[in-house]
Amino acid sequence: MSQTIVKAQRLRLWLVLAALLATGCPVGATPQVVATIKPVHSIVAGVMAGVGVPELLLSRQGSHHHFHLRPSEARTLRRADLVFWAGPGLETGLVTPLSQWLPEERVIALADVSDVTHLRKRSAGIWLDETASPPGREAAALDAHRWFDPRNMQAFVASVEQALTDIDPANQARYRQNGKHLRLALARLDTELAALLAPLSETPYVIVHDAFHYLEQRYNLHASGALLSDSEVPLGAKGLREMRSLIARRRLRCVFYDGGEEKRLARTLTEGGPARAIPLDLQGRDIAPGTDFYFQLMRGLATDLRHCLKK
Ligand SMILES: [Zn+2]
Repeated sequence: MSQTIVKAQRLRLWLVLAALLATGCPVGATPQVVATIKPVHSIVAGVMAGVGVPELLLSRQGSHHHFHLRPSEARTLRRADLVFWAGPGLETGLVTPLSQWLPEERVIALADVSDVTHLRKRSAGIWLDETASPPGREAAALDAHRWFDPRNMQAFVASVEQALTDIDPANQARYRQNGKHLRLALARLDTELAALLAPLSETPYVIVHDAFHYLEQRYNLHASGALLSDSEVPLGAKGLREMRSLIARRRLRCVFYDGGEEKRLARTLTEGGPARAIPLDLQGRDIAPGTDFYFQLMRGLATDLRHCLKK
């Protein structure tokens, strides 16, 4: 083999490597897409249907707020072409790794999507009862549970479509088509949830972990307070007493808690009182990840809320 041919082959190899480094993903190959939590993963999976399957990063059972990256999860992140996440207000443990390992344009946060609604975090305590001591309702930071409003997920679909198209233009038509279907399905889900939840707007309840601010706002629900703020700061003894007294005075029927880990907290409010402690699968632990996950999660939660609250 002549030296010129060897040089030409080397040059070609370098060009291919340079192209790989520049685009992050070889021409014709499915991009390595990672989504952090199940609701985000569900939407990304819907837009990618027929092209590939995104990898779910945090499939473990614990809280979506507090976790430490395992070595296998760190490896998954490091080899990703594109990462979708809720944002720094939720998966706080990912802020540093994402900023160090991936270029900014390859990390898409639901929190940064234009047209997404933002609500402020609330402190734990009673929100709607005028006789209780003022709980300092609105903290400065934003509530990160944005996926509990399906309209936010509709806005997210457009961002997912765009980010995938940027990295994998060959499949643009498929991403656009999937995105269109998904937005329609989300609009139908929104109508369905509105009908399921409309009869509950007059019925107050208490929730342990304040995850439902977006759901409440969208569907006009009537939460009276929470035991844990979004940052998981628990209510003190005085706050607990006031909450128990509110439940007794208003004859509240339901204290909802995240079925994974908050049963004991819910019981501190319901023991000897009129309310029942009702588990909700807030994180969708019992639902398989995939396109249908988000729809099952939201329908399941609406059904469980209705089951306890509807007169
Ligand atoms: Zn949460």
